[in-house]
Amino acid sequence: MPAKHGKHIAIYGKGGIGKSTTTSNISAALAESGYKVIQIGCDPKSDSTNTLRGNHYLPTVLDSLRGGENVKLDDISAVGFKGVLCIESGGPVPGVGCAGRGINAAVSLLQELNLFEEFKPDYVLYDVLGDVVCGGFAVPIRDGITDRAYVVSSSDFMAIYAANNLFKAISKYAPADGAKLGGVIGNGLSAGYSKAILDDFALKTGTKIAGCIPRSLIVSQSELYGKTVIEAHPESEHANIYRSLAKYIAANEDLVVPNPIGQSELRNWARNWGDKIYSLESGIVEFAGGI
Ligand code: ADP
Ligand code: MG
Repeated sequence: MPAKHGKHIAIYGKGGIGKSTTTSNISAALAESGYKVIQIGCDPKSDSTNTLRGNHYLPTVLDSLRGGENVKLDDISAVGFKGVLCIESGGPVPGVGCAGRGINAAVSLLQELNLFEEFKPDYVLYDVLGDVVCGGFAVPIRDGITDRAYVVSSSDFMAIYAANNLFKAISKYAPADGAKLGGVIGNGLSAGYSKAILDDFALKTGTKIAGCIPRSLIVSQSELYGKTVIEAHPESEHANIYRSLAKYIAANEDLVVPNPIGQSELRNWARNWGDKIYSLESGIVEFAGGI
């Protein structure tokens, strides 16, 4: 278990849900407030920190380890926007090996290099792929690496399904000193009912919504420039939404062990919402007295 320097926070979520975008904007917001931040991408996609570094290539920890011994911090890190230290764990050769292995290797190497003792971060953010919380991807919440996790989710069933799986992993490991849950981050909520679905999911699982990021062109445009919204559009409403979220996460100590929903109950819950949103959208109220 690493000595704790700063708050170590894991951010999980289904692939493509907006984890890296959200995490990088949180890092950027914390860094512009003067905090020392490290962001560690724990996704074989290895693009977690792109918008903090102008989209430049960064060798991953796994690639560097494959290249030989004596890997130094400079080989596997880059200083990004406002001093955020960027690291990507990397992934296995496609078709060979376990994706979670990169996270293990990255964390061990960073400990060997005494990174946390020497850099003295205020915040360390781990951006973790969470489609399947397999043994490897559970490392950041399982082995005392972080003590708190957030999950990014939309109101789509697969995103909620992945969030619920994370809750299962947290509720399994929390009693043995694993991480607890800080809350759910809503991302890309567009339709009016989306927030209601996510609120209901949070209520049912005993968690809170930490913040909600609406879908916006400003996010896509900033990504194309290789920048976070904080850097590309610092005066925008969206930048302020990310700043509020970062502030909330930085201060939040209300950590919980969530109550995941059982498999069949989750299906029923989703079906009920299916009926409800159909009624809301079509104006047809189901079972309206059989008129
Ligand atoms: P993940 O890290 O979960 O795989 P990304 O952060 O890479 O997902 O986001 C996937 C895509 O969605 C990116 O192209 C990103 O710019 C876009 N995206 C994420 N959040 C938003 C948002 N709030 N509005 C618009 N586009 C978004
Ligand atoms: Mg990502």
